[in-house]
Amino acid sequence: MTSDRRTFLGAGLGVAAAATSQSWDFTAGAAEMPSREGNRAEASTDFGRLIHREPRAVAQPISSAEVASLLRLARAERLKVAARGQGHSIYGRSLSENGIVIDMGRLNSIRDLRPDRVVVDAGATWKSVLDATLPQGLTPPVLTNYLGLSVGGTIAVGGIGGSSSRYGMQTDNVLELDVVTGDGHELTCSVGSNPNAFDAVRAGLGQCGIITRATLRLVRAPERVRRFQLFYPGLSELIADQRRALAEERFDQLQGAILPDGAGGWRYQLEGAVFYNGNRLPDDSALLKALSDTRSAAVITDLTYGEDAAAFAKFEALLRSKGQWTTPKPWLLAFLPGSNAEQLAREILDELTPADIGPFGRITCYPMMTNACRTPLVRLPAESVVFPFNVIRVPPSDDRAAIERMVAQNRALYDRLRRAGAMHYPVSAFPMSQDDWKDHFGSSWARFAEIKRRLDPADLLTPGYAIF
Ligand SMILES: Cc1cc2nc3c(=O)[nH]c(=O)nc-3n(C[C@H](O)[C@H](O)[C@H](O)COP(=O)(O)OP(=O)(O)OC[C@H]3O[C@@H](n4cnc5c(N)ncnc54)[C@H](O)[C@@H]3O)c2cc1C
Repeated sequence: MTSDRRTFLGAGLGVAAAATSQSWDFTAGAAEMPSREGNRAEASTDFGRLIHREPRAVAQPISSAEVASLLRLARAERLKVAARGQGHSIYGRSLSENGIVIDMGRLNSIRDLRPDRVVVDAGATWKSVLDATLPQGLTPPVLTNYLGLSVGGTIAVGGIGGSSSRYGMQTDNVLELDVVTGDGHELTCSVGSNPNAFDAVRAGLGQCGIITRATLRLVRAPERVRRFQLFYPGLSELIADQRRALAEERFDQLQGAILPDGAGGWRYQLEGAVFYNGNRLPDDSALLKALSDTRSAAVITDLTYGEDAAAFAKFEALLRSKGQWTTPKPWLLAFLPGSNAEQLAREILDELTPADIGPFGRITCYPMMTNACRTPLVRLPAESVVFPFNVIRVPPSDDRAAIERMVAQNRALYDRLRRAGAMHYPVSAFPMSQDDWKDHFGSSWARFAEIKRRLDPADLLTPGYAIF
């Protein structure tokens, strides 16, 4: 038995794969480490519950060397491979039909923690990263709104959060990555070492390598967060105040949403957060001065930084209590050019009804500065301000015909947005052809394709995107 095969079998593929194995003797070795076989049913779908692809096997490696062995064996057997972080992609991007899913869940250690950086395994969640850094008064500069995502999973797509205007994407705050390439080589990359790989792996949709470890930049965490939810009668008023707040840098975080109002219409909400330390409370009246919101409806909350960062968990708990966390999630995520954001947002709102979003769904819509976003494969409209515009649909039921209509509607909206200069945040639910991907990556396509050919010559990695 070759050492590659031994490691593969030792990685727990035995029982998981035995049911469908044709040419491999997967059962050998299974008894050695039965707990390291992954769950094939779970790895056949994702948070979106829209696509179903059953893998031949699920491996749960505990080291980068095991990931490398898996990839070498997959290459010999011509099997496609997808890493799975927390499985929160929504259109089958972490699936591998009749191939291998590498469940990163056991590669989740938080390693070296220093005042300006932390080294973590890629399967760690952002929650576990923050849990480790916050007691030292430190935080990654950009956290996703939901902390239950894996570090590798968001670095593979970009990772946007409330602080992205100031700090860019999570991929802009990665100092170094350990990666296993499609041909099973382990390499370390950063701006100064293997920069091509670094650029192709950050926001590279898992096409050129599996990230096994990341060195993340840290900054001092504020102690407290004062959060303002302001409500508006219409889109124009919301966007005017968002633009003003952004230009005047009133808040440390600026977001916003359009929400079903429960009566067939929409509510418009600005959300600003100010960080502070000790008991030096921010000056509310200066922060809210001359904004045109319905002031009597404003909600102001004051939380520790850790509580604020974890606030999405309340939304998760709500959806779980209503049985809607696990319904299909046909989301559409895009960046609108700042110059025509209001017009585009209005056109889309004219087409959508609150029923298309669901009572607990929302459309996030807010301006952000792009100057801190430098990751080559993060595609944004070439303007200084863009609007993340995310149609977060939470359909109340699993009515398949209705869900398919939503996916088709996403595709039509995407075509329209693209013609108007918007860019896709590639975590949406709608089909994309190879030409769509070429168009998406634009001037970055040729370099991306060239690095893909070098790092994953047999095109094994992350088939769920169907890019190459
Ligand atoms: C409730 C919810 C909230 C969200 N909030 C935000 C947000 O605030 N900001 C934001 O930017 N995004 C957000 N997203 C989108 C999310 O960032 C992406 O879907 C992300 O890819 C999911 O991470 P994951 O760990 O679940 O990855 P998975 O779904 O497991 O994987 C995503 C993709 O990355 C690949 N991948 C996973 N791990 C690795 C690795 N180690 N190396 C290489 N490739 C890998 C997978 O093969 C797959 O193609 C949210 C999604 C959900 C469902």
